[in-house]
Amino acid sequence: MQRYEGKVAVVTGAGRAGGIGEAIARRITSEGGRVAVLDLCRDRPEVPRESFGSFESLQSVADSLAKDGERGLAVRCDVTDEDQVASAMAEVQRVLGGIDVLFANAGGGTGAGPVDQTPVAELDRSAWDYTVELSLTSVFLCAKHAIPVLRGRGGGAIVSTTSISAYHGVSGLSAYASAKYAVTALTRDLAMELAADGIRVNAFAPGITLTPYVRQRYEALAAQDPLATPQELLDSFVSTRIPLGRAAEPREMAAVAAFLGSEDASFMTGQTLFVDGGMRV
Ligand code: NAD
Repeated sequence: MQRYEGKVAVVTGAGRAGGIGEAIARRITSEGGRVAVLDLCRDRPEVPRESFGSFESLQSVADSLAKDGERGLAVRCDVTDEDQVASAMAEVQRVLGGIDVLFANAGGGTGAGPVDQTPVAELDRSAWDYTVELSLTSVFLCAKHAIPVLRGRGGGAIVSTTSISAYHGVSGLSAYASAKYAVTALTRDLAMELAADGIRVNAFAPGITLTPYVRQRYEALAAQDPLATPQELLDSFVSTRIPLGRAAEPREMAAVAAFLGSEDASFMTGQTLFVDGGMRV
């Protein structure tokens, strides 16, 4: 099935091998699409516990797509910076001829992992702002600058990555959960604004997914607990919280993202799908 034949997709936060963004890019390429992969490509010393993909890792993701289909276009872009987002969308239009599907996948910040959960009373304003900018404002900016290009193609789709963390109360997750929950509201509003243009807007909410980001978080957590290995801590979370009894693989998120961006979801808009192994049931 070549659902993306003749289509161009943009995937943000796709600069790390093994991440959800890379898996989405790979899936779209394997279904015949051409893909532009976007990532920050620099360190942020002010965010000490986060690590980010380099331009070399982004380029290697873009190049490696060639084994599934066409080589990808690597675009350096801080998705929280409006000028950079505008330039990135213009570059994709110039090089690949347009955009049919935007996957607004980049996200993260305080509360996005088990080691940096901070109660509101102790949460720095800068950590709140950083998280909301990365996990919510980035979706607004990418949508804003992709919409004219999507309209130019006569329609298309926007698919955002939110999180199961936004749908149940857990202490220490306020910034991340609030930002991700707001992505669902933004998804609904955009769906109404863009329905007449033939642009569908949906989101999906991953449960715990084995990406480099999550593995690093469990390694950091185990470093604080001499009695447990990263795998034991992960197993304990999974066995108590996830009915299917395991964490997800990135390709399982990519399958849902690819469905939402495709014509198979042609009568769906404004929705958020939960991909969480039954955690929210
Ligand atoms: P990841 O770290 O591999 O992906 C995030 C990517 O975003 C990285 O490549 C990073 O370099 C990039 N990025 C960070 N700041 C950026 C910026 N300002 N501009 C451009 N790129 C930037 O992690 P992942 O686990 O693959 O997460 C992907 C998405 O899935 C995120 O939105 C995350 O919140 C969400 N999510 C992940 C899980 C999980 O368990 N892995 C669960 C729920 C939701």
